Amino acid sequence: MFNLTIGGQQVATTARFAVRNPATGAIVGEAPNASAADLDRAVRAARDAQPGWAARPDGERAAACGAVAAILTEHAEELARLLTQEQGKPLNGLGSRWELGGAAAWAGHTASLSLPPEIIQDDETGRVQGIRKPIGVIGSITPWNFPVMIAIWHIMPAIRAGNAVVLKPSPLTPLATLRMVELANAALPAGVLNVVTGDDRDFNIGAAMSEHAGIDKIVFTGSTATGRHVMRSAAGNLKRLTLELGGNDAGIVLPDADPAAIAEGLFWGAFINNGQTCAALKRLYVHDDIHDAVCEALVAFASRIPVGDGMDEASILGPVQNRMQFDKLAALVSDAASRGQVLLGGRPGPGLFFPPTIIAGLKNGDALVDQEQFGPALPVIRYRDLEAAIAAANDNPNGLGGSVWSTDIEAARSVAQRLECGSAWINKHGAVQPNVPFGGVKQSGFGVQFAEAGLRENTTLQVIFG
Ligand code: NAD
Repeated sequence: MFNLTIGGQQVATTARFAVRNPATGAIVGEAPNASAADLDRAVRAARDAQPGWAARPDGERAAACGAVAAILTEHAEELARLLTQEQGKPLNGLGSRWELGGAAAWAGHTASLSLPPEIIQDDETGRVQGIRKPIGVIGSITPWNFPVMIAIWHIMPAIRAGNAVVLKPSPLTPLATLRMVELANAALPAGVLNVVTGDDRDFNIGAAMSEHAGIDKIVFTGSTATGRHVMRSAAGNLKRLTLELGGNDAGIVLPDADPAAIAEGLFWGAFINNGQTCAALKRLYVHDDIHDAVCEALVAFASRIPVGDGMDEASILGPVQNRMQFDKLAALVSDAASRGQVLLGGRPGPGLFFPPTIIAGLKNGDALVDQEQFGPALPVIRYRDLEAAIAAANDNPNGLGGSVWSTDIEAARSVAQRLECGSAWINKHGAVQPNVPFGGVKQSGFGVQFAEAGLRENTTLQVIFG
């Protein structure tokens, strides 16, 4: 039985909603359908707990965060199995076990971070120091693609810095998060970490959180369209915001790249989590000289990847997570197929399964290039002039990630610096690390997560003169 966690208690709701396995359609479990009163109770529990939590010695908060990391490791297999069943991603490969490993690693690293007072000035004219204080209650709203890891990305720096949290997972993937919060509460004082879930039908919890006067900051990861709603609703009490939104990352392959050497990196850059990844490679620009060789190597690698039910240990990619995403993807692929050449895949089904799809002969202006597909379909664009390729890569409202592929690292770095994105990779795509800040520019959002820079976003700065 999955319950809300409010004030350290397991709280059952009378209304519940079914969560289905995208591979089979079977019901995985029922999640609580929280009401506005439940949300108010969670916010009140967080407000009550936060001052006491902030007053604890810093080392004690660090140790509690370390204990959460240990709990994630101890219960990794249970959580991974739940995650695979509700999300669809396989247990193996870069799937659920990998996500749980990442969540524990992020929790552990965040536990080790600190923000000591900064001496801004200390001379004969005066002394000024900057200290970091918690913001208060942080509302965390997460998407369905990496539900556990993204929740950890939000929660850990918030509580490490002395805030209390109300977490709200996606209605499509709430179960592993509910169980994870229940487990993590064993290491935390009551009320520091609360979770509410709902089906977003009669009552949209995320919208209510964005407006809630008892919440001081929202950390939101999701689509750009919803991010705009959050930003509008947050104006009432001038909530602080970190918005990690959609991406349409471009990769540029320079003419000196080695097609055989980069094929695997290109594949995983684009198809990790079935392409349902914010910073996946979503448009690939390849120089004319090696275009055909790159396509061949990529298709050869992709056609060997087993796609199937994630609970099958042999599967490396699973189904698309939900019908809405599947239909959007199918429409984009069908349009692209009429404009370019389908090199691999292209035929949706059965069910929510969608084979890895690679379509060449496309250009900016085609919907599969311009829009975020968020699924296993990669458009390939041939280019001759590097300047035109850089301009085409930047001609998009998103600015999350980007990559350059070349044997000449200096040349690749100089192209990378010209990409309008928060993270640029050379000869890989989408790698994130807990010690490196991550965030988007343009309409991919603002603010960063991870490392000290991410921790700082969970604090306010006070300067003390004297
Ligand atoms: P989504 O915007 O549909 O939903 C995200 C969350 O917002 C869910 O929990 C949802 O219930 C909630 N929500 C719905 N309506 C709301 C409202 N009016 N106010 C506040 N919250 C509301 O996104 P999704 O489909 O779950 O996720 C896919 C998107 O997330 C993609 O665009 C992807 O690129 C993006 N994403 C970005 C990052 C990043 O770090 N930049 C990471 C992962 C995913």
